Amino acid sequence: MEANIKINDITENDLNWKVEYDNTRCTRCGRCISTCTFHALEMKVERRAYTVSDTKVPAPKRVFSTIPVVKQIATIKQKCVGCGMCEKVCPNQAIKPVRNIDTRENLLNHELGSPIKRGGRTNLSIERTLDRIKVGRISQMTDPSLDAQRHTFDMLSPFGRVLGPEELPFKIENDELKIKGSIPPVHWIYPIIFADMSIGALSTRAWEAICIATAILNEKYNMPVRMCSGEGGMPIKLMQSKYLKYMILQIASGHFGWNRIIKAMPQMTEDPAGILIKIGQGAKPGDGGLLMAAKVARHIQEIRGVPRSDLLSPPNHQGLYSIEESVQKMFLSFNAAFQFRVPVAIKVAASSSSVSVYNNLLRDPYHIVGGFFLDGIQGGTGAAHEVSLDHTGHPVVSKVRDAYIAAVNQGKQGRIPLWGGGGVGLTGTMAADAFKMICLGANGVFTGKILIQLLGCIGNENGRCNQCNTGLCPTGVTTQDYRLVQRLDIDKAAETLVNYMLSVDTEFRKLMAPIGNSSLPVGRSDALVSVDKGIADKLQIPYAC
Ligand code: SF4
Ligand code: SF4
Repeated sequence: MEANIKINDITENDLNWKVEYDNTRCTRCGRCISTCTFHALEMKVERRAYTVSDTKVPAPKRVFSTIPVVKQIATIKQKCVGCGMCEKVCPNQAIKPVRNIDTRENLLNHELGSPIKRGGRTNLSIERTLDRIKVGRISQMTDPSLDAQRHTFDMLSPFGRVLGPEELPFKIENDELKIKGSIPPVHWIYPIIFADMSIGALSTRAWEAICIATAILNEKYNMPVRMCSGEGGMPIKLMQSKYLKYMILQIASGHFGWNRIIKAMPQMTEDPAGILIKIGQGAKPGDGGLLMAAKVARHIQEIRGVPRSDLLSPPNHQGLYSIEESVQKMFLSFNAAFQFRVPVAIKVAASSSSVSVYNNLLRDPYHIVGGFFLDGIQGGTGAAHEVSLDHTGHPVVSKVRDAYIAAVNQGKQGRIPLWGGGGVGLTGTMAADAFKMICLGANGVFTGKILIQLLGCIGNENGRCNQCNTGLCPTGVTTQDYRLVQRLDIDKAAETLVNYMLSVDTEFRKLMAPIGNSSLPVGRSDALVSVDKGIADKLQIPYAC
């Protein structure tokens, strides 16, 4: 007997998820097995023993039979990730994943010394600062609040370098006002940007669904929402269409897709909404980007102009020594390309040094940067080493506040529009999160993860699924596998996104009205209170309890 005990063998109880299966409800239709993209289930035969007596006088005897059953495969490679697709397709509620509190999976998941990679999100469930802040200043008698239903609100944020009065290139010559020099382009857009998630990271259907939602919001509902392409290029048809004006094109350290964008320039009939240079991202600062070979399907190879292999965007822009220098060089190239008509912004990871970079850019006499995107630790990502996802990065809220206060101290707030992201809208509270960020000093926010949740992703911050890097996404949101992509209903997904944004818009007005603001309350930190003394002190807002 002792020889049969192999304590190093992996069993279901060593894994994060155990599959609960009720043999008596199962009709052996096999749907769960064929649906599980992680191949975590198999059909097996179990031998059962019964004691029966089939004579008038009891004469018990043992009989054996075999029955087919669905079994969980207990290996790291084919582990259950808790996606719940088996439960979704089972017509008889015979199967479901259950979280295993006794798991040892993180100790066993290190084949050949390779660090664990994960897609999706941090799984440390960090408490959110935004949830500890409330809108505490409600206008009443002397400064009446507005009627959210009937009042007209100005919901626009700048994207582009805003010149201060002393920077405007006006001169009076012979009693005439003359413009001497150029004025940087500024676009006034909706204060929530659909953040940079590439074709490649997202399935083409998911990416298209966001494009469609963007177009509907602009064309039908007059909401000037902009979408960022992410690093990885775009379909040529879109670049040649009028909808390009809603797109912010991204360039990052891998330069993926740019060849195609440059080649398409002569056929562009519209300018893009802007350019976003990605220096770093909040969920894994210093770790670069990674699109795993499993997701580099034929059409991704074509869009990016690469062979099938792991596609790494280096952690830095090679050959450049500082963010300021790299931005200056790229800015010049983009402006050469778009003739100074398109604002260029940068995105950096929130970190202890990000405020210094913002300060330096604000002092730049050439007014090159048209937006500063600060990305915090809770932003999602396609694929990253688990250690980076869980242990590097900085919450965004205090960094946005620090950057805003730094700008106020220079008397230059609002000149380089400040956009914050990384966990904004994470719990479905997009309007409240955006409102609070704006009161703290952001001009607007960018958001990605809530979009993929709305498209149909079932992953969460507590370790459910998060296999976005593997190419096996069970909902068709982050895979390039043609069969899996079919699971996503593109029209329904776009519609859900549009409906959500329309609600966000209404909710946003419901927050603006009580504080009596008919334009975006940028820097109106007096409207906020925190129920946490530490947060109140750090953000310089009143403490309330
Ligand atoms: S929960 Fe998902 S991964 Fe687990 S067995 Fe069911 S389908 Fe497979
Ligand atoms: S459902 Fe797809 S997008 Fe969502 S966590 Fe799983 S793999 Fe990622």
